[in-house]
Amino acid sequence: MHEFSIALSIIEIAENEAKKANSEKVSELVLDIGTMAGIEFHALDFAMESATKNTMLEEAEIIINKIQAKGKCKDCNHEFEIQTAFDQCPECNGYFINVISGKEMKVKSLVVE
Ligand SMILES: [Zn+2]
Repeated sequence: MHEFSIALSIIEIAENEAKKANSEKVSELVLDIGTMAGIEFHALDFAMESATKNTMLEEAEIIINKIQAKGKCKDCNHEFEIQTAFDQCPECNGYFINVISGKEMKVKSLVVE
């Protein structure tokens, strides 16, 4: 399950940051995950819950922000929500779009104690 390995790397990043701050415990972790990042949100939720056991994040509140993917039409510059990079522009029916958000996968912030 690839969400589990993603959860492990997120925990590693958070633990490193906490260590830099001379802390032993992370109390809150906020993640930005795009709807086109290739991540199953329920699976990531579950993976984070089990992977944080016996880590500095064991008691942390984990907040996953779901970032809706957006595209911009190359023909008419219309911006709209997309499900895939192959969605059609609802304004001009063009097929050429730039993906402007939705692929992010990052630790947005964390709070240490
Ligand atoms: Zn268009």
